[in-house]
Amino acid sequence: MKNGNLKQMSLFQSENNRCKPKEPVLISLCFLGVPCRWHGRRARKRTGLIEKLGKKYVLVPVCPEQLGGMPTPRTGEYLSGTGARVLDEGLAIYAPETGEDVTKHHIDGGNYAVEIGKIVGACRAYLKGGSPSCDREGVTGELLKRAGIKVIRVP
Ligand code: SF4
Repeated sequence: MKNGNLKQMSLFQSENNRCKPKEPVLISLCFLGVPCRWHGRRARKRTGLIEKLGKKYVLVPVCPEQLGGMPTPRTGEYLSGTGARVLDEGLAIYAPETGEDVTKHHIDGGNYAVEIGKIVGACRAYLKGGSPSCDREGVTGELLKRAGIKVIRVP
C-alpha cells in the first residue's frame, strides 16, 4: 500500500483498540442544558439521563426548532393535534403571540433531524415529551418514526 493511502486510512481508524464503536442515538439538545428552548433560558441539564445513555451510546444532540430556522428565544407553540395531522392533513401550527404560521419551520427542522439521524446511522432518538416538535407525537417525532428511527419519549 502506498504511503498516501496509509495516511488517509489512519484518519478513519481509532488509534487503539479500547475505542470500541458505540451506537449513535439522537437526543433533544435541551436535555444537555443548552439554552435552546423557546424561552431562551437554560433548561435543567438531565445529568442522570446523559450519563446513563452516554455509557451505551454516542449522543448526537439536535434541536429541530433551531434547525428549522426558528430564533431563540421564540414563540411557544402548542400543537393542537399530532405531527401526523400536520404532515398528512395540513394542520397548521401558529405562534400564539404573533399569529404567524410556523408550520414550515417545524417540518424543516424535523427533516433536518432525520437527515442528521441518517448520516450518523441512528436507529433511535430520545426526545423531549410535550414539545410540538420533539414529542413522539410531534412533527419531528413523526418524521423520525416514518424514517425508521425509533422515538423514545422522555418526560
Ligand atoms: S425543539 Fe426539542 S430540542 Fe429544541 S428546545 Fe424544543 S424540545 Fe428541546
